[in-house]
Amino acid sequence: MGILEVKNVNKNFGGLKALSDVNLSVRENSVHAIIGPNGAGKSTLLNCLVGKLIPDTGSVMFDGQSVLGRKPYEINQMGISRVFQTPEIFGDLTVLENMMIPIFARRDGAFRMHAYESVARERGILEQAEHVLEDMKMADKRHMHAASMSRGDKRRLEIGMCLSQEPRLLLLDEPTAGMARADTNNTIDLLKQIKEERDITIAIIEHDMHVVFSLADRITVLAQGTPLVEDDPQNIKGNPKVREAYLGE
Ligand code: ADP
Ligand code: MG
Repeated sequence: MGILEVKNVNKNFGGLKALSDVNLSVRENSVHAIIGPNGAGKSTLLNCLVGKLIPDTGSVMFDGQSVLGRKPYEINQMGISRVFQTPEIFGDLTVLENMMIPIFARRDGAFRMHAYESVARERGILEQAEHVLEDMKMADKRHMHAASMSRGDKRRLEIGMCLSQEPRLLLLDEPTAGMARADTNNTIDLLKQIKEERDITIAIIEHDMHVVFSLADRITVLAQGTPLVEDDPQNIKGNPKVREAYLGE
């Protein structure tokens, strides 16, 4: 049994089958990549894991408990944190203030937007936020406005915001999309460090094969809403089904 078990998940948007019979098993403390061409259903799948979308049929179990029917913040409290494809940070707040929000949301079971309003009143959270920033080597940027940071630093902040909740499962949707090579490499190093230093499972959706093969212990290839193959990285590269799925790119 994996820490995350997805069974026969289907999701339609009108007539479009975004996910059909998706099965996925993510082993605890592994890095599991979910790859596949544009429109394969990767983000839809991720949204089904965090309560943003509800599958039409099928089950999603995290650590033996169903996530279906729970609110996103409830799933978050169960121990799943998610990094968005475009960073969801608050540009008008400083880096440090941003870091306080998810800690607050996790403690009180609140949406980030509500947590934002309460952040300024909380001292203990400030200390925790400082601690995570040091961990992320961002302490020198704590008073910068988040909007003025580089794309790479915005991503680093958001990953830090997820880690501040001490999740057991970290979900990342294309964390290096639109990044320059140097920032991509920094992100790879950061994720490697997280994997080594923490008791954490990581599921990463990723288009960039360099990132995938640098990090993944296991890979699922999704095409047109269905898993094509799940295998170890060394068996994915030469797999004819995978090559075929990518040909149209
Ligand atoms: P990926 O992340 O693999 O690129 P998505 O999960 O974003 O793919 O999309 C899978 C398919 O579902 C695409 O055809 C996309 O256009 C469609 N889709 C995604 N979200 C919605 C939505 N909210 N409403 C309608 N169609 C959607
Ligand atoms: Mg996507």
